[in-house]
Amino acid sequence: MTLHNLLPVDMVQAHILSQTASLDTEYVPTPQALGRILAGEIIAREDIPPASTSSMDGYAVRAADVAQAATDAPVVLDVIADVPAGVAPQCTVGVGQAARIMTGAPLPQGADAVVPVEYTDDHWNAAENPSLPARVAVYRAVQSGENVRPKGESIQAGRLLLMPPVRLRPQEIGLLIALGEAEVMVRRQPRVAIIATGDELIDMHEPLTPGKVRDTNSYILEGLVRQCDGEPLRLPVARDTLAEVRARFHEALAYAPDVVLTIGGVSMGTRDVVRTVVNELGAVELWRVNMRPGRPLAFGHVGDALFFGLPGNPVSAMVTFEVFVRPVLAKMQGLEITPPTVSARVGEDMRSDGRRTYMRVLLERVGEEWVAYSTGTQSSAVLYSMVEADGLLIIPEGTKEVPAGTRLPVRLLREID
Ligand code: AMP
Ligand code: MG
Repeated sequence: MTLHNLLPVDMVQAHILSQTASLDTEYVPTPQALGRILAGEIIAREDIPPASTSSMDGYAVRAADVAQAATDAPVVLDVIADVPAGVAPQCTVGVGQAARIMTGAPLPQGADAVVPVEYTDDHWNAAENPSLPARVAVYRAVQSGENVRPKGESIQAGRLLLMPPVRLRPQEIGLLIALGEAEVMVRRQPRVAIIATGDELIDMHEPLTPGKVRDTNSYILEGLVRQCDGEPLRLPVARDTLAEVRARFHEALAYAPDVVLTIGGVSMGTRDVVRTVVNELGAVELWRVNMRPGRPLAFGHVGDALFFGLPGNPVSAMVTFEVFVRPVLAKMQGLEITPPTVSARVGEDMRSDGRRTYMRVLLERVGEEWVAYSTGTQSSAVLYSMVEADGLLIIPEGTKEVPAGTRLPVRLLREID
């Protein structure tokens, strides 16, 4: 097999991303929008609070009236009204007057400050539902504005509060609800159909007999799609016949997917029929990439969907998903496509065959540096190596010998510290 008929990874990635458009948007009820990606700016339509409100339980006063108040020289005011929270007061506080007010209640006209109840001679006990006194003695001066939350203190009308693309967390959901936004415009989630192919594949409940393999990859891909905030549709396994693979593609297309992923059946085998079917329904544009694992990857279009033919070995399927599919699902949602990567020194001599190699490695912290060690076998059939690995060490194309100490990038598969 010569190198020149394998496509460079970077070229394939660039081509695939050039074929990837942002998805359209949809409105969802705000309480259900947790984790979704905001698709439009959020500008406050009103002030919050909509009027100045008291931040204490006490008496709404004119600050000038109590400017001289002191413990030994209380100022006595006429109490004209009771203002509970939740009600717009009708009264106006005039000179020498006060209104009893609860936290969160709007400040009545005329008043410009609140004297907390503990600085008055009124020592109500809320449990006893106290009657309104006719007069109140104030023992302390307050400044104009004291103990008052001004109109618009939390949010001013017209202010730009959220900009896309933001992943909505509970506090953003709360903000939207506070603003009265009952629905929110978010990016649609990519719909991804998943078709496993193979005569040898059996269900997880079936006994493992010689020649059989449990369909593992369609579940792995379902999980990866969910991790990328996509909506997976996992179809039943297709046997390696044109008729069955074709039928499964028609089922997938009925779901109006943005992406169709197949697993297996894109190699050089006599029963590798996936590309034939894709060429009937659309087009295979790229096939066979200069990488390890993952060489048989195919890319194209079927219907309105992007098509990825992922190789059947579990590690190959996962690595090609990471390298080619994950960035597409991110771009569709308007998200950053660069995956988390660290720089590491290799802890032992390593070898490659000259293809771009994604080696499963363990990372160890040594002083300020990360040191990478192979997980052991690099066979693409050994799924357990992906369970063990902290990341994928990327050996560039054209390199066959990697001496211990060489610094290379590692794409992380888990959080490390
Ligand atoms: P293929 O690319 O179809 O030649 O498959 C390559 C290898 O991956 C074969 O050993 C298959 O049995 C295995 N394989 C293919 N599909 C799956 C799957 N869905 N789950 C687990 N292993 C699979
Ligand atoms: Mg197969």
